[in-house]
Amino acid sequence: MKNKTMKKQLTLTLLACAALSAQAQNTFEGQFTRPLGEVLEEISTRFNVRLAYDIDTVGKVLPYADFRIRPYSVEESLTNVLAPFDYKFVKQSDTRYKLKKYEYPRRTDADGEKLLNYLCTLYNDQAGFEKRKAVLKKEVRERLQIDKYLAMRTGNAPILSKVRKYDGYTVQNFALETLPGLYVCGSIYTPRSKGKHALIICPNGHFGNGRYREDQQQRMGTLARMGAICVDYDLFGWGESALQVTSIGHNTSIAHIIQAMNGISILDFMISRKDVDTTRVGVNGGSGGGSQTVLLSVLDDRYTAACPVVSLASHFDGGCPCESGMPVTLAGGGTCNAELGALFAPKPMCVVSDGKDWTASTPKLEYPYLQKVYGFYGAADKVTNVHLPKEGHDFGPNKRNAVYDFFADVFQLDKSKLDESKVTIEPFENMYSFGPKGENLPKNAIRSINGLGKYFGKQTVRAAAADESVLKKAREIIAALNLTDEKAANLATTAVYNHRRAVRDWHNTHPYTIIPEVDKATGRKLSKVEREMMADKTIPASVHERLVKDLNRVLTPEQVEKVFDGYTVGKVAFTMQGYRAIVPDLTDQEAKVIEGYLKQAREEALECKSMKAISQVFEVYKTKCEQYLNENGRNWRQLFKDYVNKRNAEKAAKKAAKK
Ligand code: ZN
Repeated sequence: MKNKTMKKQLTLTLLACAALSAQAQNTFEGQFTRPLGEVLEEISTRFNVRLAYDIDTVGKVLPYADFRIRPYSVEESLTNVLAPFDYKFVKQSDTRYKLKKYEYPRRTDADGEKLLNYLCTLYNDQAGFEKRKAVLKKEVRERLQIDKYLAMRTGNAPILSKVRKYDGYTVQNFALETLPGLYVCGSIYTPRSKGKHALIICPNGHFGNGRYREDQQQRMGTLARMGAICVDYDLFGWGESALQVTSIGHNTSIAHIIQAMNGISILDFMISRKDVDTTRVGVNGGSGGGSQTVLLSVLDDRYTAACPVVSLASHFDGGCPCESGMPVTLAGGGTCNAELGALFAPKPMCVVSDGKDWTASTPKLEYPYLQKVYGFYGAADKVTNVHLPKEGHDFGPNKRNAVYDFFADVFQLDKSKLDESKVTIEPFENMYSFGPKGENLPKNAIRSINGLGKYFGKQTVRAAAADESVLKKAREIIAALNLTDEKAANLATTAVYNHRRAVRDWHNTHPYTIIPEVDKATGRKLSKVEREMMADKTIPASVHERLVKDLNRVLTPEQVEKVFDGYTVGKVAFTMQGYRAIVPDLTDQEAKVIEGYLKQAREEALECKSMKAISQVFEVYKTKCEQYLNENGRNWRQLFKDYVNKRNAEKAAKKAAKK
């Protein structure tokens, strides 16, 4: 066992050596190996292009390196060089390429076209498509594991707030306990007119401020004024859900399942209301909410009209785990959101797209495909596309107007009531179920992502729980500043969180073994902690620069220093105290120099993960301090000796006094 570990370490050390002296490997025997970073630099120079790095090249070596370069094509060269590491490039301009990790939910328009062409070979009439529909509907449920979690639900009635009355509509908050201890909160916008109303479930996307933002309230209120009950609800880990699982919860595969479960559960309780007309049930959302719109329309046959906005594509499944965290698009041997949307045929669907995101392809690719499928049912006119070529990725007025027009048409809403200026924009607090600070969160509520381990498996929540502890540490460091500006506090917390997470990840993927055991320059054998400190230092400078830049944007220089002290557990002040004790007559000039060194140590230690490595950095600078004192007329050894003797004498005197 021990032997095996040693062997592994040796291999890693050898690999690191290989990277350092790669030129020697550039032979047949050495598989023509070269460091990846070096090869990419060469491509950049050779083809005169700039490469932006969103990837890690440290320690990565490329076999048959030069043979992968195609002298006539920068793109073919990049493809060949990046592919062995599962990296890719995105062209940003004729002279600039961004290097990225493989993104499983994102493909190219050309891929989308090929997939749609392939899918069209699987069916060419209604019967054929119905067969495919049955397979996909079954497999999507299985791949999402939704039925397992639907069966675990409490079935409890929601907690409802007081009703707030506005011009032509009312708003009421709800908190629904889905799994025991897990709540989804949202608001119900109801027309003030009597009788049965259409119902529109509105899953949210990732636009800033979530469902609380102004354009969301405008859409909910306007549709309610026009005669439809509208319900929106927090994304998992956003809004009041963050009281339970922090924002980290959203970045998990669980988010995909929970958000679908929330949509289904909310429809369950809404549809039991006497004022809901069950023949007019719609679903509508933008961006990530559009992905949810399509997913809910596949999972739930109760919907009679659907309107996904700036989301549906054949070549992008949605980049957030709440859209692609579970492998839904692997259903039926491989599908995409366009085909999942087509399963809604022949019921009315309106697809809203724009010219500046991945939905730019809609008029040419996805819409003709949808029309073809709807055509199998003689219903090609039931699917419509509002394309806004000059617009980008948002839920702006023209997108909202498309939504109003569609539902007014299919649900016979009162278009004369379409007037967004009549909607009252509420402060966020009005829309909370659990109070402004979450003080009314029920006693049984889960308060950490770990609390979901019992439902989703400890393994599933482990990484998120680790991130959650980084976030809590970041909050603790910023809380020590007692900032009154909440926005600044949030931005500073995010900066510290991002930085500490990057450092943790770097540390975990760059163990001390990437540094050779012997220092090449001096021939000295390095200690494990020294190697760990050196391995931590290989982190790109941009990680540090980003932290400093982000903090300085919202904090004063003194506050930034306090944050650094939080990282290094107050070592600067503590060590300074030590020097003052050892050198009782320390001059202002000496103190200034020493403090300068210690602050340098603090800054350098920010990218160290372990306390030992942080101390190691301070040791290096303490040596510098002592050298400085010696070079300026002091005798450090003697000073230290005197200090120790003095301390011992004091101790002895104390002991004697006690007797
Ligand atoms: Zn998401």
